[in-house]
Amino acid sequence: MQKVTVAKGDGIGPEIMNCTLDILNAAGAKIDWEEVEIGEKAYPAGNSSGIPELAWESIRKNKVFLKAPITTPQGGGYKSLNVTLRKALGLFANIRPCKSFYPYVNTKHPKMDVVIIRENEEDLYAGIEHQQTQEVIQCLKLISRPGCEKIIRYAFEYAKLYNRKKVSCFVKDNIMKHTDGLFHQVFLEIAEEYPDIEADSWIIDIGAARLADSPEMFEVVVTSNLYGDVLSDIAAQISGSVGLAGSANVGESCAMFEAIHGSAPPIAGKNVANPSGLLRASIMMLNHIGQQEIAQKIKNAWSCAIEEGIHTEDIFKEGISTKLVSTTEFGEAIISRLGLSPKKLPSVQYQVGLKIDLPKYKRVPSPAKVLKGVDVFVDWKGSDPDSLAEKLQKLNSDIALSMITNRGVKVWPNGFDETFCTDHWRCRYEVSNGKPAENASIPNLLQQALKENVDVIKTENLYEFDGTRGYSLGLGQ
Ligand code: NAD
Repeated sequence: MQKVTVAKGDGIGPEIMNCTLDILNAAGAKIDWEEVEIGEKAYPAGNSSGIPELAWESIRKNKVFLKAPITTPQGGGYKSLNVTLRKALGLFANIRPCKSFYPYVNTKHPKMDVVIIRENEEDLYAGIEHQQTQEVIQCLKLISRPGCEKIIRYAFEYAKLYNRKKVSCFVKDNIMKHTDGLFHQVFLEIAEEYPDIEADSWIIDIGAARLADSPEMFEVVVTSNLYGDVLSDIAAQISGSVGLAGSANVGESCAMFEAIHGSAPPIAGKNVANPSGLLRASIMMLNHIGQQEIAQKIKNAWSCAIEEGIHTEDIFKEGISTKLVSTTEFGEAIISRLGLSPKKLPSVQYQVGLKIDLPKYKRVPSPAKVLKGVDVFVDWKGSDPDSLAEKLQKLNSDIALSMITNRGVKVWPNGFDETFCTDHWRCRYEVSNGKPAENASIPNLLQQALKENVDVIKTENLYEFDGTRGYSLGLGQ
């Protein structure tokens, strides 16, 4: 018996989870379920993460978690429980297969069979946000080399294990040259280690357009957290319904399985939701815990119901579907087909022992890191950058004011009158003699700023690593 933690979640969660558990139990899954309560009910009990201590204990002890969708309360300082779980448990890879079941489920993309592999721990989902001035709020996008290496290697290993011929990388490194640039760079490095797998790279905007238009062009897509979140909903929806796709969140010791969709509050309690996403996630879970036979039995029974046209509302289509069913009726239809093989859709045969083991990350020797200056961010309600520059040049020392930008666009020297400026100014001080800045340069500058009544809201050090600039230029610089 395998112990698995289960949470029935919010909104449509309990309906689709009860249906899924009925199917798993009827199929003979050898699982001892341990139910925990997380989410909407746990938030008001004073737990801003929505996860009580007992739930953490259960998940960390059992290491396998089947989770229904959870509603994230908007505002109020509540953090997304889903993001907290993924990050706290080190579930770095989010695997989201999106496949069409044409002609039995209506889709414009009959040949689509793409797996989105989404980085799960970094990017804008670090959730580090600050209001810095009256007008400007910032969200930090964090991308790390270990994070990139893990997810990209995982994608290539996944392709190798499941006989996929191509891995595509989606980034926006024409704009975010350092963060997305690192993701792309690591992709190119790791792709070289897999000469038998085709590797291509896409700028996310045109890549997403192609994915939505011709998904059959793609096999495995690897991308960062936010892009992966958006892309996988698009991919699932165009395969037939967002209600069809399941996902595995995998880490070194724990794994969490869930539908890719949310708690769908408008249809909650109506017994109309499609349980397929969660059921397909539970099939991934059965494979993960080595119960391939049960996984096969359920997948085949599900395919039987789908090809017979027994469909929930989200995929029901006159002329294709034969019977509109509720969530519970769909579950009953699957249970009554356990042991049967589909006649038209392929019957699955899952292999035992497929596992991806990644090498431990090895930190390379530290590069030479040289301080070249500092970006000082200033809250200033004026509108003429020249007068701000005049004030700030009084602070010059071995580092001197070289540029002012507003929302990234250079406004001094030689800015344009047309540029709209907010109250958030990035003022760059750089060494001019080619030598490293002094250790004391920045604290001295800040002390001077205090004396001159300059409202400094934050600083970012400017470094070169092994002679390569580690910071972006201003737009128009
Ligand atoms: P959603 O995925 O809940 O719903 C989007 C649309 O898809 C709605 O029209 C919904 O009715 C439909 N839909 C979703 N699942 C369906 C299913 N199984 N069967 C039929 N139709 C289905 O997205 P949302 O409305 O943006 O989010 C609702 C809540 O869910 C939010 O609080 C959000 O934070 C949360 N959420 C949770 C998760 C998670 O737990 N992993 C993921 C995404 C969103």
